[in-house]
Amino acid sequence: MQVTGKKIVVLATGGTIAGTAAAATDNIGYTAAQLGVQELVAAIPALASVPLETEQVAQVDSKDMSFEIWRELALRVGHWLAQDDVGGVVITHGTDTLEETAYFLQAVLAPAKPVVLTCAMRPATALLADGPQNLLDAIAVAGTPGASGVVAVCAGVVHGALDVAKQHTYRLDAFSSGDAGPIGFVEEGRLRLLRDWPMPDEHAAGALKNFVDADRWPRVEIVMNHAGAGAAVVAALMAHGVDGLVVAGTGNGTLHHGLEAALCQAQAQGVKVVRSTRCAQGRVLAKPDDNLPDSRGLSPVKARIALILELLSDA
Ligand code: ASP
Repeated sequence: MQVTGKKIVVLATGGTIAGTAAAATDNIGYTAAQLGVQELVAAIPALASVPLETEQVAQVDSKDMSFEIWRELALRVGHWLAQDDVGGVVITHGTDTLEETAYFLQAVLAPAKPVVLTCAMRPATALLADGPQNLLDAIAVAGTPGASGVVAVCAGVVHGALDVAKQHTYRLDAFSSGDAGPIGFVEEGRLRLLRDWPMPDEHAAGALKNFVDADRWPRVEIVMNHAGAGAAVVAALMAHGVDGLVVAGTGNGTLHHGLEAALCQAQAQGVKVVRSTRCAQGRVLAKPDDNLPDSRGLSPVKARIALILELLSDA
């Protein structure tokens, strides 16, 4: 393994990588978030010679990821990255919301050192569990000289936080970086770098402070355009009280006229509205006569996080 020689810290949050099933042949009927971080590391003999520190930050199925956990996770990552003898941080995480946590951490930390999320599509008890190899690869990436920013490693592919998205419900290589393509590949413990790492950003510190100190996080909901869409969902959310809305439009962010009218009304009433697309590939391209701003290339779930952070900075 190619490593900087500095310590790598493994922070665990749960997920399928820490999941167990009653039978080794069962890849889907398992319970996520059962094994502790020590057990995950102990399952990989090759790590015995790597200087590691471990910490259990949470133990959840990432479908249940919460802002409280994000706050704790961001603080713990920040704590460890600030230590001179730490070269990088690896986070074990469920696949379901991994792209959201990755985007959030890049937005609030934009670290100069690497923060590598990793995961598994099969539980630790599976006949051919993918978690140990993914964790080993993630530690190799976190120890690679010159690595920086928040990335995700799954099935030997390194994805940037801005681009990574879960694209498959079942296959081991479940993530894609879409048009951007991967940052690189991990091959036998060595990184083959294809493009630049996510960039450090000095504005991230302000976003972290806003998120950590918030008395209440803004409520931003996602609505979707589809055949037969209309105003009802937006009207219900407005009645319930929302601070922002992201719409997953069809195609190039197009909206059913009934839904668009409701969203424009919400915008006129002071609710921030952002228009993304439900397409897995591509980005919404703005037109001069658009009524609603586009998500600047962000998927609906990432646009929601960006809007929450924007609302916190406006507060
Ligand atoms: N539901 C699991 C989770 O996100 C799925 C996984 O990790 O693959 O925690």
